[in-house]
Amino acid sequence: MDAKKQRIVIALGGNALGNTLPEQMEAVKITAKAIVDLIEEGSEVIVAHGNGPQVGMINNAMAALSREDSSQPNTPLSVCVAMSQAYIGYDLQNALREELYNREIHHIPVATMITQVRVDADDPAFDNPTKPIGHFMTAEQAKTAEEQYGYIMREDAGRGYRRVVASPKPAEIVEIGAIRSLVDSGQLVIACGGGGIPVTRQGNHLKGTGAVIDKDFASELLAEELNADFLIILTAVEKVAVNFGKPDVKWLDDLDTREARRYMDEGHFAPGSMLPKVQAAVKFAESKPGRTALITLLEKAKEGVRGQTGTRIHQ
Ligand code: ADP
Ligand code: MG
Repeated sequence: MDAKKQRIVIALGGNALGNTLPEQMEAVKITAKAIVDLIEEGSEVIVAHGNGPQVGMINNAMAALSREDSSQPNTPLSVCVAMSQAYIGYDLQNALREELYNREIHHIPVATMITQVRVDADDPAFDNPTKPIGHFMTAEQAKTAEEQYGYIMREDAGRGYRRVVASPKPAEIVEIGAIRSLVDSGQLVIACGGGGIPVTRQGNHLKGTGAVIDKDFASELLAEELNADFLIILTAVEKVAVNFGKPDVKWLDDLDTREARRYMDEGHFAPGSMLPKVQAAVKFAESKPGRTALITLLEKAKEGVRGQTGTRIHQ
């Protein structure tokens, strides 16, 4: 292993995976090219990813199963996240292996780690669930879900009722030791899918919890734990902007964490989309001198690492 290799944790956003099974199978080919480009340039890469559409699809499918067959109980959201990690991991590792082979790189095994991420049961997020999950329900179905499963249901802009869950902060990556062993031995690892399977500690037992961990925060923790040099958040925009969507929009190339905090305070980044990315980038950049975060488009990852595009956030 080359000690001088720069270590990069990549967080893949929704556009790297698509919204349906066929879309994902196509999207991962482009994603794999972008990732293997970085490996070819001499970096060590660890892949994390989101799972919004996929976990929604799985959750709806499992709910339909329970409706159709009364002997099938409801599938917990934590299990749906586990299923999404396996399904996305399969497509990614399949495409990555093929892309490595296409470039005559035969010495890098690819593996997906099913990852549990511990959250604190007293995380304040649990008092204020905000994240809508799964399909729309009628008022009557919503009432049943509240009574039968203890779901928290909210009316969603006149379109019906949806379950809302908490989005607590990741406290600990349970499988970090296994991930580190694989990464340190030169393997290409996919981990923390969908922000990880949220669990709380009950003595020696880790209990799955109906929550969603933001993938931007889970990737940030993964990058810190693996002592990465770079956290790259790949998303649907090439750069972060101030006055986003306004006539006086200004795209940012480079900002220090002090400037980033000021822009956050001024409300330039939308909560639930760009804000968690900038928060994660700032946290990573401030976690140790020399650590840099980059936010850019999937297709621009290589140029971004070379310093040619994207938004860089540093101390
Ligand atoms: P991902 O699936 O990659 O997490 P999100 O949709 O959650 O993607 O977040 C990326 C989106 O954030 C961009 O496509 C853009 O529409 C939106 N966004 C909100 N505020 C900003 C901003 N200030 N600068 C750039 N993009 C922003
Ligand atoms: Mg997002």
